[in-house]
Amino acid sequence: MKQEMIRTEKLTTIGELAASIAHEVRNPLTVVKGFLQLMGKNHKNDEQYMHLIMSELGRAESILTDYLNFAKPKLKQIEEFQLSELIKEVVQLLHPLAAKRGVRLSHQLKPGLYIETDRSQLKQALVNLQKNAIEATPAGGSVRVHLYSKNMSAFTVITDTGKGMNANQLSKIGTVFYTTKDDGTGLGTTVSIRIIETMKGRVAYKSEVGLGTEVTMILPLKYIKSK
Ligand code: ADP
Ligand code: MG
Repeated sequence: MKQEMIRTEKLTTIGELAASIAHEVRNPLTVVKGFLQLMGKNHKNDEQYMHLIMSELGRAESILTDYLNFAKPKLKQIEEFQLSELIKEVVQLLHPLAAKRGVRLSHQLKPGLYIETDRSQLKQALVNLQKNAIEATPAGGSVRVHLYSKNMSAFTVITDTGKGMNANQLSKIGTVFYTTKDDGTGLGTTVSIRIIETMKGRVAYKSEVGLGTEVTMILPLKYIKSK
């Protein structure tokens, strides 16, 4: 059965978020401390411990990076730009990841759609959502980005032929730290939805287990330039 849902950001207070961040960062730090103690006793497994320490610190670092993006104050650098150009940039940026995983990445973008917002924040949101689509898709599958307009809204649709989500999984999208990946932070979608809502936009998900997922990002347009 096809599942559809419009996601809204689920965390309301920064306080709640701060509490969970503190918790999430403390875990890797505790692990690191334990390994350092062991390394102080003897040097037998130094190399192995070093590897684990680096990986735990890396995780703490990604959580903090994502959190800073999340907690960043409102849209700062407002500029006017063509949405298709930004999407092209993001697709290019993610090409190596897609290629590495054997996923075909394609786009069909309507030119002349201008929006006015914080370009780098929007880029961050697009990267997160496209990255998820690529990560959900097995080798041989594809991710397609389609941009079109209707009335004065821009619709960016990211369609993947990945594993999809059931109703329960879909209902958790947008909840901080919800992740099904070993190396996931569970902050990507929450951050993206928050950014897009700040831009007076909306994010909707449609998904079907085994078939794939379609994420639609709707943003208000400033103007349309037809040639
Ligand atoms: P992370 O990518 O670090 O796990 P996200 O917040 O970006 O965190 O995503 C949360 C979870 O939502 C993912 O772990 C995955 O289970 C699910 N998800 C997000 N996008 C998709 C998608 N396109 N297809 C299938 N599952 C997805
Ligand atoms: Mg992600």
